Amino acid sequence: MAIIDEGRITIQPLDKAWYRQKAAALDMLRLDLVHPVVSGNKWYKLKHNLRYALDHGYRSVLSFGGAYSNHLAAVAVAAEESGLGSTGIIRGVHAEQSLTPTLAACMASGMQLVFVSREDYTRKNDTPFLEELAARFNHPFIIPEGGANVQGREGAAEIALRIPGHYTHICTAAGTGTTLIGLRNALPVEKTLLGFAPMKGGSYLKETLVQYIHPLQNRNWQLFDDWHLGGFGKWDRALTDFMNTFYHQHGIPLDIVYTAKMMYGIGVLLEQGYFTGDARILCIHSGGLQGNVSAADLLDYGRAGA
Ligand SMILES: *Cc1c(COP(=O)(O)O)cnc(C)c1O
Repeated sequence: MAIIDEGRITIQPLDKAWYRQKAAALDMLRLDLVHPVVSGNKWYKLKHNLRYALDHGYRSVLSFGGAYSNHLAAVAVAAEESGLGSTGIIRGVHAEQSLTPTLAACMASGMQLVFVSREDYTRKNDTPFLEELAARFNHPFIIPEGGANVQGREGAAEIALRIPGHYTHICTAAGTGTTLIGLRNALPVEKTLLGFAPMKGGSYLKETLVQYIHPLQNRNWQLFDDWHLGGFGKWDRALTDFMNTFYHQHGIPLDIVYTAKMMYGIGVLLEQGYFTGDARILCIHSGGLQGNVSAADLLDYGRAGA
């Protein structure tokens, strides 16, 4: 896809003053640089989905998300760029009254938005509901919420190709867990994989993870859900202050939903002496900067962060 350039991905060392002697190295894999909207892990989870849709003669794709969804924002742009139509099934009918900037951008990329009740939305993986949607929207290729399907996991596994062998710990944010699954399946098992869930009680994800992680790869990973700040999408001034300080120190804009909470958590783990001094840690910047618009007034780098 012409707009995407994986060659833009870099590994950026963080300022040593941030982690002092608590680890031997702490670097960031800048997947956010792939594209401002089709960024980070979203591109990886979508690439094989779009390929599949094109190869199988689909004219459009349909997917699911909330009013701030990084996934839908990425689907809208990537589908348009691939010459595919797109439909977004949006959680909550109230979201139609005043469109969030995310949904407005989806529409601007030609995505048809369909608002459903929270109750209907819970049926997002049920076959009868999907059949109903397929019939209603001209038989699109259906991508589950967050790109959480086999194509998504295969794409996420490709992120491992970007990770040099000398790292001992890989850190990633986890929403559906698709990225973590892809990485655990593809990375050598002796590399410790740490997942950071930004929602309350996020440890429920473990069930999904063990379902899709290959049995031989099913060890040496851990999921933290301690730094949710009240729940998914919730944040406070302490987090935006952390994001500003982080930006000024390293020149890296974090997203308020996932990577800010992950880096905050990693800071706490470093402080607690969780890592040994010889740990070489790679944190994945999974993108999502379009979502910062909800806190743009408080962030020194505004919305896009670039
Ligand atoms: C969607 C998203 C995630 C979560 O990825 P999963 O594969 O669903 O676990 C993490 N970070 C960012 C920035 C995201 O937008």
